[in-house]
Amino acid sequence: MAIYVLGDHTLDLREPDRETLVALLKDETVNEELFHVADCVKTREFGNKVFIRGIIEFSNHCRCTCAYCGINARMTRIKRYRMLPDDLVDAAVHAAQTYRTVILQSGEDRFYTADMLADIVRRIKKQANCAVTLSIGERTLEEYRMMREAGADRFLLKHETANAVLYEALHGVPLETRLDAQRRLRGLGFELGGGFMVGLPGQTDETLADDLLTLVREKVQMAGIGPFIVHPDTELAGARDGDPHKTLKVLALARLLLPACHLPSTTALNVKGGMKNALFCGADVIMQKATPFAYRELYDIYPGRDAREVPLEEQYETLRKGLAELGLSAE
Ligand code: SAH
Repeated sequence: MAIYVLGDHTLDLREPDRETLVALLKDETVNEELFHVADCVKTREFGNKVFIRGIIEFSNHCRCTCAYCGINARMTRIKRYRMLPDDLVDAAVHAAQTYRTVILQSGEDRFYTADMLADIVRRIKKQANCAVTLSIGERTLEEYRMMREAGADRFLLKHETANAVLYEALHGVPLETRLDAQRRLRGLGFELGGGFMVGLPGQTDETLADDLLTLVREKVQMAGIGPFIVHPDTELAGARDGDPHKTLKVLALARLLLPACHLPSTTALNVKGGMKNALFCGADVIMQKATPFAYRELYDIYPGRDAREVPLEEQYETLRKGLAELGLSAE
């Protein structure tokens, strides 16, 4: 357990405190040192490896009304799609030829019962040698248990913001609901991925410090930290995008607080051109799209996402070469 001295600030990992985190977020003179230390910790933990995952966005139907999200239930004019279980299994088995981890993500779509999802996972695990990560939102303990017993390894469910008032304003349900779902997942032995957005309207540095401390408290093993990106058709249309630079600072602090945690350079950060930097201030994971081409444009949770139609092996190879040029090795 380390104590970091950055500029005038002392961050004690045995007892990380909110005031120090806020001060570090506000102090722009510490950035270079902060990013360097975060990169050293990442390298100590993972060497020059970057873990590449393939993500399949299999349904954009959603029962939730998250104010920031372009596929929320109130978006009546968008075209909805969902993949049939057979097609999803095929797509995942195909993706597993390129990626060692396949992430299955969707809106909160109750068309897929827990039985169906468990069956999909079971079939993928039987046909392919890959880790399966689910990112499908909140379900009951019993439903999560069925997915876990079917062989799902990991689960991504971000807390989105640790400010309970802001969380409820954006989602219409209390933050505790989300944290309870995370705890159910942990209890079942899923590797838990949490995370949050940076730059949500009304969020402050104090909120971000609480977001970081929430990751520590909930003992997440992965954390997706990305800038909020305004979707022009949502109720947050008039807001401003989150700051990619601030996101990098938060990411670097997450690396110090949770040395062994997997931290992706999130898709939202990549949209903002931040990938290369993220890999040198703490991030060790990149997710690439493995969604069948026909659906890529339709999974429009925020603008600017890459919907290009490049075959998976080619997109992986391009990334692998790009990483090699940076001295990093794709895993
Ligand atoms: N329905 C699933 C999957 C969510 S989408 C679930 O609720 O867990 C994956 C992530 O995209 C969300 O957790 C959120 O952090 C992020 N996201 C959604 N809309 C966004 C926006 N406008 N800007 C940035 N990130 C966004």
